[in-house]
Amino acid sequence: MTQAQLSARISAIAESSTTQLMGLVQQLKAEGKQIISFNAGEPDFNAPEPILQATVKALQAGKTKYGAVPGEPSLREAIAKKVREENGIVAEAANVLIANGSKQILYMIFQALCNPGDEIIVLKPYWVTFPEGIKLAGGVPVFVDTIDHQPDVDAIAAAITRRTKAILVNTPNNPTGAVYSREALMAIGQLAVEKEIHVISDEAYEGLVYDEARHISMASLSPEIADWVITTQTFSKSYCMTGFRVGYLVAAAPVVKAINGMHSHLTGNVCTFAQYGALAALEMDPAIMQQMQQTFQRRLDLAYPLCTELFDCVRPAGAFYLFPDVSRWIGERFADDDALAAHLLKEAHVAVVPGSAFGAPNHLRLSFSTDDASIEKGFAQIKQALS
Ligand code: GLU
Repeated sequence: MTQAQLSARISAIAESSTTQLMGLVQQLKAEGKQIISFNAGEPDFNAPEPILQATVKALQAGKTKYGAVPGEPSLREAIAKKVREENGIVAEAANVLIANGSKQILYMIFQALCNPGDEIIVLKPYWVTFPEGIKLAGGVPVFVDTIDHQPDVDAIAAAITRRTKAILVNTPNNPTGAVYSREALMAIGQLAVEKEIHVISDEAYEGLVYDEARHISMASLSPEIADWVITTQTFSKSYCMTGFRVGYLVAAAPVVKAINGMHSHLTGNVCTFAQYGALAALEMDPAIMQQMQQTFQRRLDLAYPLCTELFDCVRPAGAFYLFPDVSRWIGERFADDDALAAHLLKEAHVAVVPGSAFGAPNHLRLSFSTDDASIEKGFAQIKQALS
């Protein structure tokens, strides 16, 4: 079969370059190639034992049927308590909706907010899925540059038009690892209140912050700001549950109700027994995840100096990504960051994501979600491939 009558909407979408590269790396590894995965967009640890046990128990207890569309009531309650206590967000179970990872949550938020031609402000560099999700909803992503990976509030204000529906904020940030300051978040929040537009606050990496940084949830800043915020979080990164596909949004009840209608047609409930694994994640000893955070801090301390030996790089304060500026390697030897990344895969056997995928040419995204030995070996191999 070779024919297809595809819609303009779907033809305008590019496949996710991060998932595409993950597929390629998995394939190369299956062929026996020794690839170091600096492309990894997920923790390299398995989900902790209490999560696995609770999931198996739920399976055995028959939690295998359709469940409530917005999520298992006990998990919605537990998430509301978690965001109240850990994030300072005023929420009840009715403010929570559980879906298949942040990806589906964001898709539904864009669908819920955008009429054709409506604009959503996206800070650059951005996660690959943001613009495509907005376009799928008939919206227009309006890109605004950051300064040293921090929001440029004046530029955001200048980008707001009559068509603006929301400002999309992602902290800790993928791909830069930046953690936004309280002042910057407050200024964006006040702008949203003044202009009566939403803030979509993607906090997928909230569990991973380093050095003196603290994650601040936009919806915790003031009740006026909270009214306009739709927060998205996920179990994927904070609890090493990427494959479980459990993410959630926290928003005003009418937003939850509207999105729930779409969710009921799109997928219905998230995998029922996976939600019991998520419930166990919230109930288990927090020391388990604190240990993982300490490991990531150590890896950052190891990887950052190795990275700056080769490239200019702002030190990240969250997530598990380094986002160096590789301009000095672009020109004669490599046409662009895609060519550089391809060279590193072929010659250094290190997989990295080109910055262009995130709207930031002349950069690379390097994940330090791998063991110490692989971090050292990976940078040594990159150094050799560039010598
Ligand atoms: N979010 C991760 C990344 O940026 C996982 C892959 C994806 O869904 O994009 O690599």
